[in-house]
Formats: sequence, structure tokens, C-alpha cells
Amino acid sequence: MALPGRTGRPASALAPTPYDAELRAAARHVSRRRFLTVTGAAAALAFSTGLPARGAFAAPRLEAARITEDPFTLGVASGDPLPDSVLIWTRLAPAPFTPDGGLGQQQVEVAWEVALDASFAQVVRSGTALAHPEYAHSVRADVRGLDPATTYHYRFRTGAWISPAGRTRTAPAGGDDVTRLRLAAVACQAYHDGYYTVYRHLAREDVDVVFHLGDYLYEYAVNSAGGARNYTDRVLPSVFNRETMTLADYRMRYALYKSDPDLRAAHAAHPFVVTWDDHETENNYAAEHDENGSDPALFLARRAAAYRAYWENQPLRAGQLPDGPDARLYRRLHWGTLAQFDVLDTRQYRSDQAYDDVPHAPGPESDDPVRTLTGDAQERWLLDGWASSGALWNVMPQQVCFSQRRLDLDAEAKLSMDAWDGYRASRGRLVAGAKQTGVDNWLVLTGDVHVAYAFDIKDDFDDPASATVGTELTCTSVTSGRDGTQRPANWDTYMRANPHLRFYDGRRGYLRMELNRENARADFRTVPAVTTPGAAVSTAASFVTEAGAPGLTPV
Ligand code: FE
Ligand code: CA
Repeated sequence: MALPGRTGRPASALAPTPYDAELRAAARHVSRRRFLTVTGAAAALAFSTGLPARGAFAAPRLEAARITEDPFTLGVASGDPLPDSVLIWTRLAPAPFTPDGGLGQQQVEVAWEVALDASFAQVVRSGTALAHPEYAHSVRADVRGLDPATTYHYRFRTGAWISPAGRTRTAPAGGDDVTRLRLAAVACQAYHDGYYTVYRHLAREDVDVVFHLGDYLYEYAVNSAGGARNYTDRVLPSVFNRETMTLADYRMRYALYKSDPDLRAAHAAHPFVVTWDDHETENNYAAEHDENGSDPALFLARRAAAYRAYWENQPLRAGQLPDGPDARLYRRLHWGTLAQFDVLDTRQYRSDQAYDDVPHAPGPESDDPVRTLTGDAQERWLLDGWASSGALWNVMPQQVCFSQRRLDLDAEAKLSMDAWDGYRASRGRLVAGAKQTGVDNWLVLTGDVHVAYAFDIKDDFDDPASATVGTELTCTSVTSGRDGTQRPANWDTYMRANPHLRFYDGRRGYLRMELNRENARADFRTVPAVTTPGAAVSTAASFVTEAGAPGLTPV
């Protein structure tokens, strides 16, 4: 098949449109109906924000031959590998920095194919899908009937345009006593804080799957120079220079992020398993509470827009499609008998932060046992999943620091009220559940903090002699926090205040892990700078934890 030449990125100027008025109207509509349940409010939102009801696809069909600019500007992605299936994704946007992506309100038919080889000589599955304007012309195919533990190549085509090819991999069969799994974990990729050098390196790693632990995008304004990227060769449209509030804002912000070739390369190279943290919606929100104490009805309108755009722009299955401001993002995946992954959502169901979300010593407000970080349903789901797990490694990819982190050396040290430290009863129920279910080899993967940490998870964090019950690793950030330093100013304090903290590095990077039947090895991969492109990657430190013997050992 002949490949049309790539076109340059269109520099479309954007006419101002009344998004704010639209959001305010949606919120007013919800406010009038606050007596309704959240689900009722969701239905009202779907109406008042102009989102169609599911299945309402009345738009006319656009002849694919009439697409005159490359529609595959946002790349491809795959995700959530199962033994017989993987989800493949793209989104058509010949003019990505405009609200409709340049395709108006028309549907577009897209063909997809999955092959065993990179030249697509051995196509094993193919089909067509419709890109709907209601879903921002995103396209996804839940490709079934694949073989387990197999590498595949995939691509999309519409009219004369063909997408970049992606590579993906299915999970091993359910009972397969797999001997090895290689994974990576990333989080926190503020576009305006630097270049995606970390992704350029990650694209070249030999890993089976990548976990994204949240802050895939940030809601903050991005100026015409791209913030710390300090562009001199392009001018970003002014539409990015304000906080994301509406569905159109969030959609365009994903387009901005995915305009970065290194991010597209990482998605094309590996399947991703994604979960969100706060910034995909708004800094440090908790359920229906935003950080400024806005009317929850107003914030839920915004959350619905943010969740919708997230789903449209990620390789997620239909089961994660939001219903207004609600989405079932927590989910379980397996890697044969080697690993079970319990992917959490610690934002959507959490109690509001204690003590106005400023660092605070634990007290009656933060320690109230009715408070929860997961919500009751997710907590039960997790504990039930542990009880029935037959996996050697039980991995919990999630967002905020699980282990206790004393922020100073005072006897009554302050803790972060946004992390599990602000929800100690909730954390205690998981630690108790881990012991009670006898879950094997508990491994927590964490984002959010923009630094690399390795923790021994203690039965009692205030007693260094208490049992180690699991391992937590934080993956630092891709860019957030800009370049960072190896030893931040609080390094000595944190290391002394937290004896179970085994490693702390303040630079950008990603976590690379290998799990086998004997042990799990973690490599903290790091780059010295992200505000200038092209930095080299190196391993700052490596640790091993032995199967059956929790606790980290440096290697
Ligand atoms: Fe972050
Ligand atoms: Ca965060």
C-alpha cells in the first residue's frame, strides 16, 4: 500500500467560542436538579452539555476520500492486553488544535488491521470502525481471537491515508506459569515542564507493557512558547493559554500532548494500561469536590467533560466509557500465574481531604475511620481480588504515596493530606486485608510525587522493627517539576524521618521492572534534564525484592 506523504502540522488559528457559557449553562442545569443522585445529574449533564446519548449516531458519513490532510496526527495506541485480545486506538484529527479536529460533525469509516509482522504481510485480523464526532473521532477496536503472549503490529487506514504502525503484545494464557514479565511505569507529564525525552527512551525499552499512573495531562495554561520547552520554532495557539474547563478544552489539550512525537512513539511501541490521577481533571480534587470548594454540581460538569475526553484519547475498552461524571476505571488484569494487576482509581470515590489539604500531623479529622481513599466498593473489590488471587506477584498500580511519609523531623510530623497518609484508616484496612487474605508479594506502583522513591511497606510505619508486608516504588515524573535534582533540599530530612524509605531521587525518568519466579527487580531510569531535548538515560539505582521475603535489597 502506498503511503501518502506526511503533511506538516496545521497551524490553525482558533476563533473564540462560548465554551465557558456552555459549561455554566450545564452547571446551572445540574444545580437545579441537585436533589437527584449523581447518576441523575449525569443524565442531565449528557443532555445539557450537548453530549449525545449513547448510540445516537445520526451524523452524516464523510467520504474518506475527501480528507485532504493527514488525519493520523495523534498517532496510535494499544492497551489493556488480555490473553486473546488487545484494544487498539487512534483518533482522526487533520486539524488537531481545533474543537472538532477538522472533521466537523461527520462520521468517518476507518479500516484497521493486525499482523504478525511489521510489514503487514501476515495480517491475522482486520475490520472497520466508525469515527464518530460524538467521541471526537476517536476509533477503537477490541481485537479478539488473538494468540496469547504474542507480539502484533497494527495500523489504521481511511481513504488514501494510513496511520503509523503500532506494536503491541497480548497477555499470556490464564494458567500459564510465565517465567518473566518486563514492565515500565510512568506518571506526571506536564507538557509545559519539558520535553518527553523519557518517552523517547522508553519507546526503545524491551518491555511487555507500560503502566501510566496518572497526570497524563495538566489542566494549567500553556503559553505560546510551550512553557519550559521554550519553543522558538513554533507558536502554540492561544486556546491552550488558559485552564481546561470544557470538553473542547480537554480534547484539544490531549491533542497538544499527543502532538509530541516521543509520546506517540512510546504508545506505538508498547501497550499501555492507564489510570488517572487529579490533573486529568483538576488539581487535588476529591470525588465531587474541587480544590477551590466550588459548587459540586459545577465541578461534576467539569469532571464529566474531563472523564469523557480521557476515555476518547486513551486505549480503553467500552467498559471504561464514562456515564456523565462517573466512570469505572479501576480494573484487574493478569499475566498468567506470574502477576495480577489491580489498577486503582483513588480520585473518583475519595473523601474530601482532611485539614483543608495542607500538610498536617495525623488527627481526628484525617484518622476518622469513615473516611476512604478508594470508596467502599473498590476496597471490597480489591480485597476480594486478593483473596482469590493465584498470582505470584500482586501488583497494585495506583496514584498517590501509599507508605507513610513524614515530611519533617518533629515528634508529631506533618504528612500529606492528599496521599494515603491523609486516609490512614483506609490504608490500615488494606494492610489488614493483605495480611488476612495472605496475598503474595504485594507490590505497589505509585505516581503523583514527581520523585523516585523505594519503600518497604511496614505493618506499622511508626515501628521500624515491625514486619515488612510489601514493596512500594514511585516512578517519578516524565516532565513535571522540570529538571529536578538528584538530592532535593529535603532529601536528608525525608531519609532520616522515614527509615522504611530506601531510595529517593528527585530527577525525571521512569521505572523499569522485571518480575520472574524468584524475584522482582526495579531499575530507576533517569534523565538529567528535560527542559533541553535529547538527554541520555541512565540507571540511578536498582533494587531486588525476593518472592516470599518482602523487603528491598540494593543491587
Ligand atoms: Fe503530577
Ligand atoms: Ca497528581
